[in-house]
Amino acid sequence: ASGPQYLTGNKPGLDAFIDQFDVFLFDCDGVLWSGDHLFPRIPETIRMLREKKKQLVFVTNNSTKSRSDYKKKFDSMGIEAYEDEVFGSSYSAAIYISRIMKLQAPKNKVFVLGESGVEQELDSEKVPHCGGTDPQLRREMMPEDFKNVANGSLLDDDVAVVLTGLDYHPSYLKYALAMAYVRRGAKFLATNVDSTLPSAGSLFPGAGSTSAPLITATGQEPLALGKPSQAMMDAIEGKFQFDRKKACMIGDRLNTDIEFGIKGGLGGTLCVLTGVSKKEEFLAAGAEVVPSAYVDQLGDLLG
Ligand code: PLP
Ligand code: CA
Repeated sequence: ASGPQYLTGNKPGLDAFIDQFDVFLFDCDGVLWSGDHLFPRIPETIRMLREKKKQLVFVTNNSTKSRSDYKKKFDSMGIEAYEDEVFGSSYSAAIYISRIMKLQAPKNKVFVLGESGVEQELDSEKVPHCGGTDPQLRREMMPEDFKNVANGSLLDDDVAVVLTGLDYHPSYLKYALAMAYVRRGAKFLATNVDSTLPSAGSLFPGAGSTSAPLITATGQEPLALGKPSQAMMDAIEGKFQFDRKKACMIGDRLNTDIEFGIKGGLGGTLCVLTGVSKKEEFLAAGAEVVPSAYVDQLGDLLG
């Protein structure tokens, strides 16, 4: 067969597609909902997969929310999901730091450029942190700040990692501190580097826009721990223990979700057309990232 299979309205194709897999990895925004708008027949689709005894994992690059924030969001949308099934880019970064880097106290602190979702997941892994939502750092840079960053008096000697996620309150002071830490040898990590953030029917700066100034200033690239990073896939496999050939990644974005599934050697990838990517992108001759199948919307899996 050549090209992705179109499954909308194709009941035999749909059943055969779903039956191939034991595990479905779901992207969230653009697949289940868009912002606060739930797409049609989502709770029913999730229920159908649970009735078929499929294992579900909700894999999101949204670093601003923790797993427990996501559980609340699923509840408010009326979708059956469990905190343990949520795997966000903040959690991915937190477990990379705690379980792979295994920093030794006292030099084990993380300077965060990001929101409370990052802080909560670091807390869940007992990783000490600073920066983040500290209101003191949202202020304007003052002349004496230059001196105090340069002489180290504004720096915490225990910082070993700078972690960026989407930060809705960036400030020059935060970037000055982050740059100083990286120049002192802190490892530069990012929850994810999505270029854009879809919202309100338009596009806004994504988490990649938080790390970009630091890349420019330091000349270093971060290790990103969200989709399509395979560090995230390895962590998911480590937690859920499944056969990659029996797993399918469902997403709306070719260069994060679908690439994540293909690079990870999953048995299949399914693109839904309710989000960022358009079918013309993967149906075009010479397209680089091509899903195994696609549907107009996730609810079409119900047939
Ligand atoms: N990053 C942020 C800050 C977001 O708010 C969102 C969507 O809500 C995303 C990334 C993309 O999330 P997903 O990977 O679920 O599409
Ligand atoms: Ca998405």
